[in-house]
Amino acid sequence: MDRILKAATVVKQAAGEAELALINAQTLRPLAAEEVYTFRLAACDDQVDRDFERFTGETLEGLATLFVGKSVLMDHTWRAESQTARVYAAGVEDSGGVKRLILRCYMPRTEQTAGTITAIDAGILRECSVGCAVRRAICSVCGADQTKTCCPHIPGREYDGQLCVMELDGARDAYEVSLVAVPAQPGAGVIKSKRYGGAEAPETDGPQGAQAPDDTLLLAQAAQELEEKRYGGNFT
Ligand SMILES: [Zn+2]
Repeated sequence: MDRILKAATVVKQAAGEAELALINAQTLRPLAAEEVYTFRLAACDDQVDRDFERFTGETLEGLATLFVGKSVLMDHTWRAESQTARVYAAGVEDSGGVKRLILRCYMPRTEQTAGTITAIDAGILRECSVGCAVRRAICSVCGADQTKTCCPHIPGREYDGQLCVMELDGARDAYEVSLVAVPAQPGAGVIKSKRYGGAEAPETDGPQGAQAPDDTLLLAQAAQELEEKRYGGNFT
């Protein structure tokens, strides 16, 4: 129940020699550059997000270590045999004062993964969610750790001019990375749920359940869009 899921975005990346060495640390046999497809996931950063939470820089560094070797799950509209992507390297990159966790992922180029690779290249699989757990969620107003107690402050509200934000502190575990098919609307279809655990009631708001009809529709549209691309003549 302590799982936190955050939205992230997918960016293409070429595999050089140094990257290939890191990839081959994860494989059973060495792969050549032409055998692998690589992409980057811009995952969580240290800015306040739409849930009025922010990861601390130290937490992002800890998550980078924990995510290496983790599987990248494809959206459930994708076939199980295509679920072969993996995080081979991760790090925190600083861009304009924003620290962001970047996950570098690879998958072998096979007949089974061709559709998924096309979907990433076509921008259909361009969002993902990352699941992780933190040790503490600290209220910025009173300093109460929400994993141990519940304070009266509500994230996003102001108290005497101070915005209440939950600081996600201390990387505890990294679970899955899931690619999500999202056709047009920005931010739509992103799987989002969070749990601190501790004293907070675990399953009250049920974000995934509440959004299920919309998600199902969006995924169906994305799948249809991919099929059109695949059979529309643009696909080699
Ligand atoms: Zn508080």
